[in-house]
Amino acid sequence: MDLYVILGLPSGASEPDIKRAYRRLARRFHPDINPGDRTAEARFRQILDAYETLMDPERRSRYDTGSGGGTAEPRTVSGFEGFDFSSRGADHSATFGDLFAEVLTARATPREGSERGADLHLDGQLSFEEALVGAQRALTVTRREVCQACAGTGQTRVVTGACDLCQATGAVRTVRGHMVFSRSCQACAGTGQRRPRPCERCAGAGQETRTESVQVRIPPGIADGERVRVASKGNAGLRGGPAGDLFITVHVHPHPLFQREGDDLHLVVPIAIHEAALGARVDVSTPTGGARLRVPPGTQSGQRFRLRDRGAPSARDGRRGDLVLEVRLMLPKLLDERSKELLREFGRINGENVREPLQG
Ligand SMILES: [Zn+2]
Ligand SMILES: [Zn+2]
Repeated sequence: MDLYVILGLPSGASEPDIKRAYRRLARRFHPDINPGDRTAEARFRQILDAYETLMDPERRSRYDTGSGGGTAEPRTVSGFEGFDFSSRGADHSATFGDLFAEVLTARATPREGSERGADLHLDGQLSFEEALVGAQRALTVTRREVCQACAGTGQTRVVTGACDLCQATGAVRTVRGHMVFSRSCQACAGTGQRRPRPCERCAGAGQETRTESVQVRIPPGIADGERVRVASKGNAGLRGGPAGDLFITVHVHPHPLFQREGDDLHLVVPIAIHEAALGARVDVSTPTGGARLRVPPGTQSGQRFRLRDRGAPSARDGRRGDLVLEVRLMLPKLLDERSKELLREFGRINGENVREPLQG
């Protein structure tokens, strides 16, 4: 078959045209992209052969003039032709490196010696109110990720077969004048077979460090010091092992008025002396909404009232704790004579001895 036709080019195409056509076709027919597809592999062999022949000025001119060459020519080209394989080979491998890096996105499957990635730990700050209602946080996380170029294998994928560079001989020959130099092929380490090379992007590690924004949902009711786990957002595993997790330890800022004990919220409620003595309704606003406390007549300072299910939601099961209101009696400032007079009169009328328990 005509070499130009194989590459889809007119005869007389320039070298850059040949390179471009080769790259375009290789992207379609390379065996890495068509694993197990014999037709594609055969097609790729033709394409590679056409490319190599047309990129070699001597072979190309022989092909163009019809004096041999072409697809029928044996691949083991004699080194006496004065063609420097090493320089051509270098060009070749560079082409493969960047051509196929982008298509190898398949996930690596766990292999022998696989290792789970390390967990990562971060701290997060929340206001008291945010902790009660829950929050969404975008955290910047720098983590080890599976290398996108090699899918974590650390190697370029190869098709088994003869080394393209040395045509399976394991040696490359260079001609300098009348001298022919032969040295072990570097691409296949002299084996004559294709070998995987370390991935260029990750230098064979199979991983790369990336910084990304991770959305973290903090459940309502989380308490100071509790941790949130984001599965699989730790470091990537080694050799196909599972990723570690990301843990965020939450620090909740204290509230000036409310205290949290377990899932209960505690609040000290100041009440006036007449409210404590006669009873009152006291409205308090809490981080979870308004609440009304019915202070019964004769309430003592320090007495506690528990409003069911008005506390913090539990971060585990969502059930709410209680709101615990502790009454604290506040004496009036007695700035006016009338108030003082009323209290003196109250003392005279009410003869109760409040220190009786002390006097036995
Ligand atoms: Zn080789
Ligand atoms: Zn890589």
